[in-house]
Amino acid sequence: MKTALLLGGALLLGGCAGGTAKTAFPPEPPLARPGLAGMQYLYGSGESAAISRQAWQALTFYVGEAMQGKDRRSVVLDEGATLENPKFVPCAGKPPAAVFDVDETVLLNQGFEYDELTGAPHRDFDDRWARWEKTGGHAVSPTPGAKEALDAIRRMGVTVIFNSNRNAFNAAPTEQAIDDAGIGPAVHGQTLYLAGDDATGSMKDGRRHTIASQYCVIAMGGDQLGDFSDLFNEAVSVPARRAATALAGIAPLWGRGWFVLPNPVYGSALQGGPDDIFPSTKRWSDPAPTSTKEPR
Ligand SMILES: [Mg+2]
Repeated sequence: MKTALLLGGALLLGGCAGGTAKTAFPPEPPLARPGLAGMQYLYGSGESAAISRQAWQALTFYVGEAMQGKDRRSVVLDEGATLENPKFVPCAGKPPAAVFDVDETVLLNQGFEYDELTGAPHRDFDDRWARWEKTGGHAVSPTPGAKEALDAIRRMGVTVIFNSNRNAFNAAPTEQAIDDAGIGPAVHGQTLYLAGDDATGSMKDGRRHTIASQYCVIAMGGDQLGDFSDLFNEAVSVPARRAATALAGIAPLWGRGWFVLPNPVYGSALQGGPDDIFPSTKRWSDPAPTSTKEPR
């Protein structure tokens, strides 16, 4: 990203010199905050919007099939289950529901991230986020395709329930933000579960099990692996976390009960250095690392 911005700055300056092609010196890179590339992708790009619609349309199709079939399969891991040996909460006799994370799953927090990008650096995140929950409801949007999908599955008779790590103290403005975005209703304790509703903090399995004790949860959506099971957050390394998504009992769930929305801006996906990200067998170093341009 930094390279692209530097190049962009040099080209811009070069183009201002009375039509004469000059190399700008010294090139002044535009002010860039960390995370700009992720925000460009998530909040600005058509590519991200297309992925979002792809997920929501796949979810709508999957739920439609599940509602027409006799086998309504739960996708909430039962207590005592492991990722290696997944077992699911029984569904017998329960009405169908679908469970969704809120932030960057059904809502895009554009106002907060604009402030993140343009406001003073080094502010306390928790305090700022609490103020955002209270006052930022006007500056969010539904993720592309979310409203259409939630409207459609509600029409099928599926109860839509939100399981968020927003704070229970701010339940009222969160209900309002979801309603105002056109994807409600969200009623705290009924169709909206929040951090502070139980004693497990930001872990979501407890709230998931409370929901699954009343409903047959046939689909879930989220932008973090913890939106599907807290067990993913027990993985001890970046490669282990990635490998967990490919386990025999887990891999078939992606797009078939578990639906992931993109988030390159924040969260558990953004961790690890080069040694964590690139397997030792998949590394390459340019054998001629010079600035000389070679013919192709
Ligand atoms: Mg989220």
